[in-house]
Amino acid sequence: MHISELLKTGKRPLLSFEFFPPKDNAGMDALKNAAAKLLSAEPDFVTVTYGAGGSTRQKTLDICGMLSTMGFTALMPHVTCVGHTRAELADLVDEIHRRGFRNIMALRGDPPKGETVFRPAPDGLAHASDLVKLIQARHDDICCGVAGYPEKHPEAGSLDADITNLKIKTDAGAAFVTTQLFFDNRFYFDFVGRCRAAGIQQPIIPGLMPALSYKQIHRFVSTCGASVPPALSSALEKAGDDAEAASAVGIQWVVRQIDDLLRNGVPGIHLYILNRAKVALAPAVTECFARYRA
Ligand SMILES: Cc1cc2nc3c(=O)[nH]c(=O)nc-3n(C[C@H](O)[C@H](O)[C@H](O)COP(=O)(O)OP(=O)(O)OC[C@H]3O[C@@H](n4cnc5c(N)ncnc54)[C@H](O)[C@@H]3O)c2cc1C
Repeated sequence: MHISELLKTGKRPLLSFEFFPPKDNAGMDALKNAAAKLLSAEPDFVTVTYGAGGSTRQKTLDICGMLSTMGFTALMPHVTCVGHTRAELADLVDEIHRRGFRNIMALRGDPPKGETVFRPAPDGLAHASDLVKLIQARHDDICCGVAGYPEKHPEAGSLDADITNLKIKTDAGAAFVTTQLFFDNRFYFDFVGRCRAAGIQQPIIPGLMPALSYKQIHRFVSTCGASVPPALSSALEKAGDDAEAASAVGIQWVVRQIDDLLRNGVPGIHLYILNRAKVALAPAVTECFARYRA
């Protein structure tokens, strides 16, 4: 099932979840458990991230296969350019197609740990737009999603320059954009307005990460460049090591974000669930979705 087709029906806002390949068997069992529970939320599609290197790479496709067998209907493996030659990326994309997946989240990827500048592999690709072109040239029946950054990508000189580069990705054939996480919806609405003014027509799905703790959220934003509103930060700090209290703060915050976004007609909500079912299935969250996804 093409995600672009799901977006076109426009019947209801889409709901999607992002999984990541766990490092060990215990993590895989936890993912399976969470996935089994998450089926009841009826997500329209699920995505599986692509590791920066090593054994998690093959796992991305294997987890997509497993989720498909479990009953998830639209699967989207992520692919990054990190450490791959063009030929390797071509083989990977062919394998994805051969295994029956028709959606790919096309990414450049981050510089490897310890490096601050992204360097493409010898005969590799420098930008996500190059990957979109490669995918579309080999399989024009694959629907590509790409990443967008409401608070700008950390390497970009300005938000406008980043949006100019985003347009290169959408012009290369990306069907939709999923955003980096943000905690203040004003960043998203401003970003969408600027993208439209720059001529980007594709649907822009907001990506949200429910905060689980003060430490966890500050660790995440330190690498991705998103900001944490002082009110959220201090409420999480107050919760301290009380995991229940912190997750209640995170849930309350994300429900307010979801409600506001859905009320304003976003095409969908993508949840960075960190392989957990708890927040996505919290009654406040499911009730909020139910109001808009009847
Ligand atoms: C929805 C989502 C999913 C993600 N999934 C993964 C994952 O599975 N695995 C993973 O490792 N990481 C993932 N990431 C993180 C992502 O890999 C990093 O943010 C990475 O640093 C940038 O990837 P990109 O695809 O946005 O790159 P690009 O679109 O190539 O942009 C990277 C930088 O280069 C600039 N740029 C782009 N094109 C040009 C051009 N033609 N000329 C000059 N400059 C240009 C951009 O402005 C930006 O600053 C994800 C991020 C998001 C938002």
